Amino acid sequence: MTNSIKRGSAMIALSAGLAISLLAAPAALAKDVIIHAGQLIDGVSRTTRSNVSILIHDDRIVSVTPGFTEQAGADVIDLSKSTVLPGLIDAHVHLLLQLGSGSPMLNQVTRTAYDELLDGIGYARKTLFAGFTSVRDVGGYTPAIVALKKAVAAGNVTGPRMWVAGSILGPTGGHADFSTGFDEALSKPEWTDGIIDGPEEAIKAVRAHHRAGVDLIKIVPSGGVASVGDDPHAQLMTDAEIKAVVETAHTLHMKVAAHAHGAVAVDHASQIGVDSIEHGSFANDVSYKIMKTNGTYLVPTLIAGDTVVQYAKMHPEILKPSVAAKALAVGPVMSQNAFNAYKAGVKMAFGTDAGVYPHGQNGREFELLVKAGIPAIDAILMATSAAADLIGDADDIGTIQPGRYADIIATSGNPLTDITELQRVAFVMKGGQIVKQAGQ
Ligand SMILES: [Zn+2]
Repeated sequence: MTNSIKRGSAMIALSAGLAISLLAAPAALAKDVIIHAGQLIDGVSRTTRSNVSILIHDDRIVSVTPGFTEQAGADVIDLSKSTVLPGLIDAHVHLLLQLGSGSPMLNQVTRTAYDELLDGIGYARKTLFAGFTSVRDVGGYTPAIVALKKAVAAGNVTGPRMWVAGSILGPTGGHADFSTGFDEALSKPEWTDGIIDGPEEAIKAVRAHHRAGVDLIKIVPSGGVASVGDDPHAQLMTDAEIKAVVETAHTLHMKVAAHAHGAVAVDHASQIGVDSIEHGSFANDVSYKIMKTNGTYLVPTLIAGDTVVQYAKMHPEILKPSVAAKALAVGPVMSQNAFNAYKAGVKMAFGTDAGVYPHGQNGREFELLVKAGIPAIDAILMATSAAADLIGDADDIGTIQPGRYADIIATSGNPLTDITELQRVAFVMKGGQIVKQAGQ
């Protein structure tokens, strides 16, 4: 792909030591940039435009106009042979988690929240370099993930824009209780930080999360797959607990993401007013009607299903005891049900459960969505305008339109004809700053 950048004296300054101080004060570099896009998928329209110019001032998009224009004093980034898209959004990641090396229970007792946070810095970089300029982190020890978000926002860590849920909330012995299977005397604060039993505890936990700086709340109305001893089919939170979370969170202007596999938990959580169902593995046609009526998003996380099946078959040591059987049951139904939800007209946003599989491979989800029967353009819209709407910041991210952040990526081939192009994102710009160019 061609994405050489034509720069004048600014480029010379960038290669000198002097540039460091200039970069620290972006106002000194305030310069217009024009991207020449050969093909443009803007995140709004289902049709592609050819030969378009995107004018960027500081960190925002100013205009999107037909033809390749130039402007005195503006640098041109030549992506005329590439397909240009909005920075991708993954609405379901866990930047503090990485399954896949060694026994998860041994890791749990030998690693601290500091280890997780330091590893998370690397995972944030990998995620951004993969073309994901925004993520919704739906589960990680609250003080650690809030610290990572702040460090990225301050420019001290390279990573995507982050909206974080902190510790996931759920009942004793459920998917949010990380002490299950251990001697109680071993318990660490981060294992039980998210346990709520009863509406009063739910209200208090949501308020405490808000005080700690989270952006949204993640609850686990059903059991999980990678956790011990909880049934994914069962609704393990009461309706009263879900309602207490939803009302308190919405009052505090926070959205609620609900991890739910079984249909009963999906249906109840949607009726009570959660903003998204995560996974939704065993949902059915009745569930999809309920979700459509309530405007509840589905975040299907197909890579997670695919990955846990591979672990169960080939690397059972990566899963906790009793988890393999659950993994083998959930994996195969997830894609068919994601397609059923799509056909039923349920709102869908892109999410991958990064951390269950290796960070940075988020783009594989597109391939699985397309394999499931969802058209490539709709899979892309799930990861752009739809995910931005779910996050609640569509005015800033998810589309290439005037006023939005200049979060822009490019692929050398067209992802509408080969969806795997989104696993080889060659150019990444976040807030007007190039973070990856020509694949480097
Ligand atoms: Zn998850």
